[in-house]
Amino acid sequence: MREVYLDGASNTPLSRAAYRAMKPFLREKRVGNSMSTHSYGVKAGMAVENARSTMSDLFGVAPEQLFFTSGATESNNWVIWSEAINWRKNHSTGGHIVCSALEHDSVLRSCEEVSRIFDIDVTYLGAEDCIQGVVAKDQVKKACRLDTFLVCVMAVNNELGSENEIEDITNYTERFGIHSLVDCTQALSCGGRAEICLGMRFRNASFMSFSAHKFYGPTGIGGLIAKKDLLPLIVGGAQERGLRGGTSNTAAIVGMSAALEDMAKRDCGELFKDLTVHLCIQLSKKLKGVYFNIPHYGEIPIISLNCSEVVNVYSLADVLDAYGIAVSAGSACDSTHNETAGEFNGSHVLRAIGLSETEIRNTIRISYTRYTTRRDINKLIRALRYVVKHF
Ligand code: PMP
Repeated sequence: MREVYLDGASNTPLSRAAYRAMKPFLREKRVGNSMSTHSYGVKAGMAVENARSTMSDLFGVAPEQLFFTSGATESNNWVIWSEAINWRKNHSTGGHIVCSALEHDSVLRSCEEVSRIFDIDVTYLGAEDCIQGVVAKDQVKKACRLDTFLVCVMAVNNELGSENEIEDITNYTERFGIHSLVDCTQALSCGGRAEICLGMRFRNASFMSFSAHKFYGPTGIGGLIAKKDLLPLIVGGAQERGLRGGTSNTAAIVGMSAALEDMAKRDCGELFKDLTVHLCIQLSKKLKGVYFNIPHYGEIPIISLNCSEVVNVYSLADVLDAYGIAVSAGSACDSTHNETAGEFNGSHVLRAIGLSETEIRNTIRISYTRYTTRRDINKLIRALRYVVKHF
């Protein structure tokens, strides 16, 4: 067991509320398939639809706009492939996507693939466009063309904790008839009730993706809010209104819904703010030459900390791991190591905001959960001081 867990942006532990809600669907002897017509099937089907209704209420969207998927990776793939296929079906030439270079790999790789297969142009907004990791409306506006059909910008960056100008961006895209994909995965791990109202906060976004394991729900389940039409990519079943085939994971869906409901009752904003202020004070008192890659003021529980002025190690996150401190170098999905080749690939996000290879290697992402305490921060500072002294 890790002594200190400061990697909430990779995974949050399952909440008690989620576990309690899931238990009957995992342990009872007669759990039906949610599509079966007998009473056990009807019971499971009702549980799935109740979860859809609860979640869509909390998000502020209509139940038929909410689709259950295996998580944000699938949701992001779904939107980008569906939009690209649709474009090529209706246009023999052209086609353009605007995508920030700071997106999750599931967005970047999908854009690369549809660009290659359907001969669609993609403009990536990089360091020169994203000041301090923030994607602004003006940059998106400058990049859009007459044939732009999709803009992909995440709400909160999973490595930097920066917040993009989503409302302005989606107001602009909606006005010009361009669809938008907003990856809300990390946005849902911030603060409380206000963060959850995606339908209200981003009322002009066409698509919004998320994963339950970022808000104390189970892993391997998430969703997509779709306000525009989608093509079915996973076919072979009538589930999700025939648009996403495959037997529904009833227990996970019910757990996700309970986790979101539980989140909506809490507000972790003050806790996260307090932890960041405490981190700043302790750093300035006890460790010189360590600074934030971008400014952090608020309630977003993700801090990108640059230690390159004081250490120069192969991977700072790995060194801290040896001392029982779980932080990460970047996104967990964005495999940073090729262990057999002994390579350190580093974060594409840190590279995109213009950091050097040394700065990337010596950056750590500290991310809180609602269980994080000031003591955890103190232990991190102690471990960092030790590393600075010995490396
Ligand atoms: N988008 C963002 C911003 C993420 O942080 C993650 C998870 N690291 C994903 C997408 C992918 O989520 P999942 O692996 O649950 O599909």
